Amino acid sequence: KIYVLRYGHRPQRDKRVTTHALLVARAFGANGFILGDVVDEKIKEAFEKTVKIWGGRLHFEMGVDSFKYAQEWRRHGFIVHLTMYGLPVDSVIDEIRGRGSDMLIVIGASKVPRFFYEVADYNVAVGNQPHSEIAALAIFLDRYYQGRELYFEHEGGRLRIIPHERGKKVVPKHSFSPLDAETR
Ligand code: SAM
Repeated sequence: KIYVLRYGHRPQRDKRVTTHALLVARAFGANGFILGDVVDEKIKEAFEKTVKIWGGRLHFEMGVDSFKYAQEWRRHGFIVHLTMYGLPVDSVIDEIRGRGSDMLIVIGASKVPRFFYEVADYNVAVGNQPHSEIAALAIFLDRYYQGRELYFEHEGGRLRIIPHERGKKVVPKHSFSPLDAETR
């Protein structure tokens, strides 16, 4: 299994960014999302709403101690910390893919403490320029799955999109009759 640990979330400031990190984790093939150290009902609501409509078996937890969580994780898996100071993703991704045990991906918000650089088995950079935890997570998962994650099926949920060259085609799951959702 692959979990994402979101470290350093600031409820007022990071609501949108953390929600987007969660959406990317779910859509791009992670199995769990851990909001470290804080409780934020807004993030939980966004999670519940998305899973209800679009499905997926994403595990969600919040308010857990990030340091302890990472230490515990090492009993059964390994840790990837995404940081611009790390090693190039292309130089380590094959080795990471080959490990086969549970992977915890740590992403930060503002400054990430030394602890994560040390507890991580891999400090991985998606380019050595500062950008965004959402972009870093998306590209890391895409390289990990080699593009297959875009076609993963998400169990459950109510709706499914039928790709369309123009407009929006959405059908209820397990049905082939288009909803009245054809708009531009
Ligand atoms: N300046 C902060 C620091 O030095 O720890 C990082 C702030 S950055 C906006 C937030 C998060 O985005 C980082 O903790 C990291 O997880 C991710 N990130 C940003 N650029 C990255 C890069 N080039 N490669 C990998 N992760 C990156």
